[in-house]
Amino acid sequence: MDLNNLYKKALDLEPLTVEEGTALYHEAPLEELIFTADKIRQIHVPGRNAGWMIDRNVNITNICFSQCKFCNFCRRKDSPDAYVTSISDYIKKIDELVALGGDQLLLQGGMNPDLGLKFYTDLFRNIKELYPSLKLHALGPPEVVFLAQKESLPYNEILRRLITAGLDSFPGAGAEILSDRVRKIISPAKATAGEWLDVMREAHRLNLPTSATMMYGHLETVSERIEHLVRIRELQAEKPEGSYGFITFIPWPFQDEGTVLSKKHGIKSTYNPPDYIRLIAVSRIMLNNITNLQSSLLTVGKEVAMLSLHSGANDLGSIMIEENVVSAAGSNNRFDAGEIQNIIREAGLNPVRRNQKYESYYS
Ligand code: SF4
Repeated sequence: MDLNNLYKKALDLEPLTVEEGTALYHEAPLEELIFTADKIRQIHVPGRNAGWMIDRNVNITNICFSQCKFCNFCRRKDSPDAYVTSISDYIKKIDELVALGGDQLLLQGGMNPDLGLKFYTDLFRNIKELYPSLKLHALGPPEVVFLAQKESLPYNEILRRLITAGLDSFPGAGAEILSDRVRKIISPAKATAGEWLDVMREAHRLNLPTSATMMYGHLETVSERIEHLVRIRELQAEKPEGSYGFITFIPWPFQDEGTVLSKKHGIKSTYNPPDYIRLIAVSRIMLNNITNLQSSLLTVGKEVAMLSLHSGANDLGSIMIEENVVSAAGSNNRFDAGEIQNIIREAGLNPVRRNQKYESYYS
């Protein structure tokens, strides 16, 4: 395939096909991908700013029926260390977040068969009554699919009630790779690719700000990575005019430590820094209608994250005061607010603290 023609199409923000994206991934020299992706980043996000934020992850429960094979975090109901977080724990953790200057809470966790829609709407209302200015970035498409089945309600009604109770934005959790071939192996009990996209379509129709993610580096092919990007781009193209849609795309590598995929199936993470940079650059090239691209500082560490800011990414995400899902599978990177800003400066860019909607605090 003529790579120069593909670069030109990409720089004109034309959508590349799966075949074109796969050819770029396999054939393009990394420095040419980096150059092209950085130019495209400058079209979407001009200037030399790179974003970061403060939020806190609180896990609602670690009880989950899904038992995804890459997850070290989930527990069965009768496990001695199974829990559902109490309101007093939320208060303690939110007070710590507020003391650190944060105002956004990421609420995630397992799909606990005992917890229905009322549990979540009561929880959101309780938290919002106690902390009216706190923003809730919570749950994800698999939880909505689960709640819709449990309550016999359509996705849009589940989302509508969660929004009414206080949901401010919706993470793209549980996307992994949007290929049912892959999902049947790594997370067979979780939402299908089509269900994940259907929930996001409804979220966009309700003008809920969302993010899109990818957990890669296990048993997917390069074509399946590219198909994932194209499915996200096509859904973004469907969003109603003026609605938030996908505000950002965040890829991170599979962390294999202690997982069933690694122990029982011998599947190790294929992560390596050049391939991560290649993925970041190709994501920027393929996602011609998503403004922001976040590098996963938490999983790839400082040096790779710095390079990613020159390869298409414009954000390093959150200092993530508490994170239990990827850290349970071997990710040990931790950064405070000063360190994340220094990393961005060391990369030659200006750190800009932002909120979940990528609005700057200091603009
Ligand atoms: S990744 Fe999420 S859905 Fe899958 S088992 Fe873990 S907690 Fe459950």
